Amino acid sequence: MENPNPIRSLSLLSGGLDSQLAARLLLEQGIEVHGLTFTSIFFGARAAEKAARQLNVPLLIEDFTPTILALIDHPKHGFGAGLNPCIDCHIAMVRRAGELMREQGFQFVSTGEVLNQRPMSQHRQALQQVAAESGAGDYLLRPLSAKLLPETEPEKKRWVDRARLLAFEGRNRKPQMALARELGITDYPQPAGGCLLTDPAYGKRLKDLKTHEGLDIIPILRLRLGRHFRVGAARVIVGRNQAENEQLEKERQSAEYLLRPRDIPGPNTILPSSVTEDELLQAAAICARYSDFLPGQPVLMEIQGPGNPRTLAVLPATPDTIATRRI
Ligand code: SF4
Repeated sequence: MENPNPIRSLSLLSGGLDSQLAARLLLEQGIEVHGLTFTSIFFGARAAEKAARQLNVPLLIEDFTPTILALIDHPKHGFGAGLNPCIDCHIAMVRRAGELMREQGFQFVSTGEVLNQRPMSQHRQALQQVAAESGAGDYLLRPLSAKLLPETEPEKKRWVDRARLLAFEGRNRKPQMALARELGITDYPQPAGGCLLTDPAYGKRLKDLKTHEGLDIIPILRLRLGRHFRVGAARVIVGRNQAENEQLEKERQSAEYLLRPRDIPGPNTILPSSVTEDELLQAAAICARYSDFLPGQPVLMEIQGPGNPRTLAVLPATPDTIATRRI
């Protein structure tokens, strides 16, 4: 017979192995688990959706884009190797989980965090910070490392049997993999694969955008498209293949130039039409560099933008210029 008053945990579920294991440990104790995951322009919910199906638990998905953009703008606890404000991000996610816990009558919040697994965000002090600053406090349980951490309210109140929780610690993932085998969990993504902000190359582009243009959604979405260069204050985007060339042409806005070689194969390029004539020439030279140009020969570039279409002859940019302008 079903328990009419089950203990209910709102469990942060990224879909990675740790979050799945943490949820399974609670399910094994007869606790009702609901998953909570977040989506944004930097990460999606697909892995969490799959994990929730495998665990057979309901999943709540919340849009996190405005929150993560504000955190990238002002990260209280700084960034990781990319432009990833992991501690602040995690605090904000747990804070939201705490709000939902109170609003929707869950007894506690749980996560798949493992003590000292990530140098920046999972050392003892960071875990304490997350609990304190999120407002979840003693109602935040980390089932995978619980035995190494102070007893939480769900344990003190005997909602959860601390003896059946674990003492995982550090970067070695073998214990998790062994437990996964034991519990029959075979399908899980590789760790840290899902967030673009942890990619240092992407972080570099995003940082440049933040410095020069601000963090608006459309330019952020464009960061994944093409090669990016900075010419003066302008961002120049050069397609890398046919699909990107078509997308750049489609995405081009009325206040932007579209450049491409007129007589030889080469990429489409877009840039703001507010550039000076000299900057337009520099962008055309960068675009020409990726065309099938003949050494020493100028390339005739087609320019579409405000006003009538025209052509410009430019020498392709040198490899040095390409390297210094590349974002
Ligand atoms: S990896 Fe991305 S989603 Fe995860 S905590 Fe860091 S910034 Fe947030």
